[in-house]
Amino acid sequence: MSKFSGKCLCGRVKYQSYSDPKAIFNCHCNDCRRATGSVFGTNLFVPENKVEIKGNVSSFTHTADSGSTMTKLFCPKCGSLLFGTNSAKPNVMSIRAGTVEQVDIIKPIINVFMSKKIPSTPIDENLKQAPRMPS
Ligand SMILES: [Zn+2]
Ligand SMILES: [Zn+2]
Repeated sequence: MSKFSGKCLCGRVKYQSYSDPKAIFNCHCNDCRRATGSVFGTNLFVPENKVEIKGNVSSFTHTADSGSTMTKLFCPKCGSLLFGTNSAKPNVMSIRAGTVEQVDIIKPIINVFMSKKIPSTPIDENLKQAPRMPS
């Protein structure tokens, strides 16, 4: 049974995740900020083979500071960023929290890339923090 679902802004791309999120991170890195157009990105991590995507997605591939190949998957019509994969983490898909319908499941456990955080971004001090991405 589907655990959660989501869609892009125009609705042409829809997905179901058959796994609960294994972790949820707020990421303040430059790449997440630019890719989302927001001051930080929130990612839900799930096994890639537990995500069913309906509709066509476009992709953009870039190299992270770590040297990993990162792929961003987005709706070619409305441009919403929905998913990401990382060559260093096989079978892990990140899902951008803003696309999730079941908003109550979005409970980040950590803020990562605090070293890149915009000074005005508020931080929940109850969450863990890491200067970069913990390995
Ligand atoms: Zn769309
Ligand atoms: Zn990031």
